[in-house]
Amino acid sequence: MATQAQHAPDMEEFKILLRKFNLKATNQRLAVHEAMLRLGHASADMVTEAIRTDGTVKITVATVYNILSQLAALGIYNHRMSSNNKMYFDVNTFQHLHLYDTVNNTYRDVIADDLMEEINDWLCKKKFKGYKIDGFDLQIICHPSRMRSKIS
Ligand SMILES: [Zn+2]
Repeated sequence: MATQAQHAPDMEEFKILLRKFNLKATNQRLAVHEAMLRLGHASADMVTEAIRTDGTVKITVATVYNILSQLAALGIYNHRMSSNNKMYFDVNTFQHLHLYDTVNNTYRDVIADDLMEEINDWLCKKKFKGYKIDGFDLQIICHPSRMRSKIS
C-alpha cells in the first residue's frame, strides 16, 4: 500500500486540494478546516460550536455537515460512526489506529507503523472469497482510568 503524508493538510495544502476538486475556498469551507485542524476528530455539532466560538463566520450545523460530508466523499477527511451513533470526521486520512473513549466518545490517534505494516502484510497474503480488500479499520476501545475531577 502506498505511504501517504503522515499529517493533516495545513491551510495552504487544503486550498490546493479544494482547487484540485474545483471547489471554491469559501470562508465557510476554510473555517470548517481550521476547526477540524484544531479538533482532529469531530462531529458536525462540535465543528459548528468551534466556528461559532470564533465568531468570525456565520454557519449552520446543516451547512457544516454538508461541507464535512463533501470533503469526506472526496477523501480529504475520513469519517466513522461512534457508538453513540454520531458521525465523526477525521482530519487525518493516512492509515492509523484509534483509541476510542466509550465514556466521552472521543477519538485519539495512535501511530503504530510497525503494527500497520504487519496487518498489511497479513492482508496481502489473505483471500476472502468473493471480496476484494479495501483496507482495515482498527480501534482500541477504552474508558478513562480515573474519574475526572469536577471543575467548578
Ligand atoms: Zn484519527
